[in-house]
Amino acid sequence: MKNRKAIIIGCGIAGPAAAIFLKRAGYEPYIFEAQPDHDDYTGLFLNVARNGMRVLRELGVDGQIRAEGIELRTMSFHSGRGKWLGKIEDPSPEPQGWTVKRGFLHKVLREAAVCEGIPIAFGKRLADLCIAGSRVTAVFEDGSSVEGDLLVGCDGIHSRTRRLILPEAAEPDYTGLISFGGFSRGVKIPHEPTQHMVFGKKAFFGYLVKRDGEIYWFGNLDYPGRPTRKELQSIPQAEWRRVIDGLYRDEIHPVPEIIRATESEIGVYPIYDLVSVAQWYKGPVVLIGDAIHATSPNAGQGASLALEDALVLAKCIRDCGSLEQAFRQFELLRRARVEKVVRYSRSIGQRKHATNPVQVFFRDLMLPFFLKQAGRQSNAWLYDYRVDWRERLTV
Ligand SMILES: Cc1cc2nc3c(=O)[nH]c(=O)nc-3n(C[C@H](O)[C@H](O)[C@H](O)COP(=O)(O)OP(=O)(O)OC[C@H]3O[C@@H](n4cnc5c(N)ncnc54)[C@H](O)[C@@H]3O)c2cc1C
Repeated sequence: MKNRKAIIIGCGIAGPAAAIFLKRAGYEPYIFEAQPDHDDYTGLFLNVARNGMRVLRELGVDGQIRAEGIELRTMSFHSGRGKWLGKIEDPSPEPQGWTVKRGFLHKVLREAAVCEGIPIAFGKRLADLCIAGSRVTAVFEDGSSVEGDLLVGCDGIHSRTRRLILPEAAEPDYTGLISFGGFSRGVKIPHEPTQHMVFGKKAFFGYLVKRDGEIYWFGNLDYPGRPTRKELQSIPQAEWRRVIDGLYRDEIHPVPEIIRATESEIGVYPIYDLVSVAQWYKGPVVLIGDAIHATSPNAGQGASLALEDALVLAKCIRDCGSLEQAFRQFELLRRARVEKVVRYSRSIGQRKHATNPVQVFFRDLMLPFFLKQAGRQSNAWLYDYRVDWRERLTV
């Protein structure tokens, strides 16, 4: 297997992780990223759940996330009228996860790949693919191309790789919600390992407080059509600030104060998901992470699933006799889990939709029962997933 070349499309989360594991499996990986450089894609923040942290530990970078992130053990819920709805506490001695800025996670993974001697080319947007027998050629928008023995599509929910190899595949579904958020300072709220959630009168709101007092906040709102990220970003910041201020002006303390204390730009994203694609690979090309199964952010699992995929795929390639067998095994090991998570996350999101006062009244009435039930249910299937890189697969 020595010197077999792996082309990795995308340097988000799945991409650098897959490159490092594939190098350990004997491949020579090269990463190609569409963004012109690595300063360009910082985004907001995300929770790396403890199942994802296990993969980061295998990569040797979990310590950086623990040092920088906000530890998360409890989720606490209020209604917009100030009624305490309940909390969900994870019984495990390990935190449920760690919340970090997206740009920080990208940086940690990218630097880990560079440390392993893996080249990363920026400004390389995949345009086309040519599969000839066991070889694959990737053609980029700038006219350049590269040939390899394996190509891993890690190019996210609107994956060009997926559309090229599986033109008939299902497209992502719009959930009807947008997510927006930012970073605030100067509101006196104690730091604790808790994510606070408010089922607001007009829109959902969540926040966490870092040790140094910085507040990471986000909101979800019903939004019509099938907006693209570009369309939402083309709306001026001042307009978003006006709309968001109006949504939360009459909410309980400290929601309006947090909004007013926002120091960063407000990031706005449409929420799509992708539950099930019939096929995950074609010839020497395989898809992982959001490119093949994308979950809405409600369960805080998309990044962790992408990391798990990277490890499991490389392990299958290392231990199977052929790529075809490895891809089949990868899909067999992963499909049921990832589809279950996407559906679970979708079901959580449905509770964020209430928009009229009658719906809000009944939602607030039912939520304490739902939260009690959710607290009793074991989430071990979600968080306690383990894959041992050293253990060999028996196929
Ligand atoms: C608002 C929001 C909040 C979220 N919060 C959480 C959370 O708290 N926890 C969590 O686990 N998940 C969260 N997620 C989901 C998480 O972001 C994704 O599941 C995760 O980023 C998937 O990683 P990935 O590497 O598969 O794809 P991405 O992170 O999307 O990376 C894809 C990369 O490919 C590049 N690319 C795209 N097209 C091309 C091309 N044609 N050629 C070359 N490169 C290309 C992109 O520039 C990008 O760098 C959230 C998502 C959103 C939208």
